[in-house]
Amino acid sequence: MKVFETITALRQYLNENRTLGHTIGFVPTMGCLHQGHCALISQSAHENDITVLSIFLNPTQFSCREDFDRYPRCQADDMNLAKKAGATVIFAPTEKEVYPHGFQTVVDVPELAKPMCGEKRPGHFTGMATIVLKLLNIVSPNRAYFGQKDYQQVCIVKQMVRDLNLETEIIACPTVREESGLACSSRNTRLTPEEKERASWIYRLLQETVEAAECNSISTEAATALHDQLKGELADHGMQVEYVEIVDGVTLQPRNQIEGGTLVAVAVFIGEVRLIDNVLISGKA
Ligand code: AMP
Repeated sequence: MKVFETITALRQYLNENRTLGHTIGFVPTMGCLHQGHCALISQSAHENDITVLSIFLNPTQFSCREDFDRYPRCQADDMNLAKKAGATVIFAPTEKEVYPHGFQTVVDVPELAKPMCGEKRPGHFTGMATIVLKLLNIVSPNRAYFGQKDYQQVCIVKQMVRDLNLETEIIACPTVREESGLACSSRNTRLTPEEKERASWIYRLLQETVEAAECNSISTEAATALHDQLKGELADHGMQVEYVEIVDGVTLQPRNQIEGGTLVAVAVFIGEVRLIDNVLISGKA
């Protein structure tokens, strides 16, 4: 496994490989790898000759400096996990390499970035879209892999790729969960065992909501009732609810009916740790 810290060295290596006809898969991450990241790496390794994993804790997508400072960092473990999962190249640039003095261009995907996580985290998705575009330009992969846990992020990246005519294929991969159902997240390392037990209710309650939605024909009143019930139950299990949203899975606009293609998404705090999760309703209600 090769490790690069500079854009020039990485580009040179990837260009040599492209000349040999090798395909390139790319997995962007902020490090502190877990099984969710590993699944993306494995899928990329399966579908491409080379898999580039970037590890860069991007300061511009944190709206609060404290959250950035508290974000877990675990570089030694990351190298081992990445190698085991099948990464062939690690790109771990410094902040200065990515944002040299005088940097000022940003990418905005305004409509998709407005609801849900965008509402309470101003600038988050601009920071995310900007770094993803920069990384896609640096790596020029054939395919890039993103997790559906960050559903809104995937929608924004796909829209940006369409709007700006990038050639990379964006592949959305299913959410990987711990045995309890809790979605794997770097932030889980900050939960105590008791908080983790509480957090496992997120997915259980989401599933109950989906089951209720799929059993009934869901009218406006019933959808509102399910929304309120989910919000109440998350709070009853000791979570501070940031949002519960029932939205169209493509436009992310609110839906007052639940049917196939509807997304149920939540963001909660357990103590100071912010967790998100979602389920997409598949069949017809
Ligand atoms: P992050 O390091 O949190 O920025 O995540 C890097 C990539 O891993 C993003 O595309 C995430 O959506 C994806 N990811 C994070 N958690 C999971 C998970 N539990 N299952 C699948 N993908 C995930």
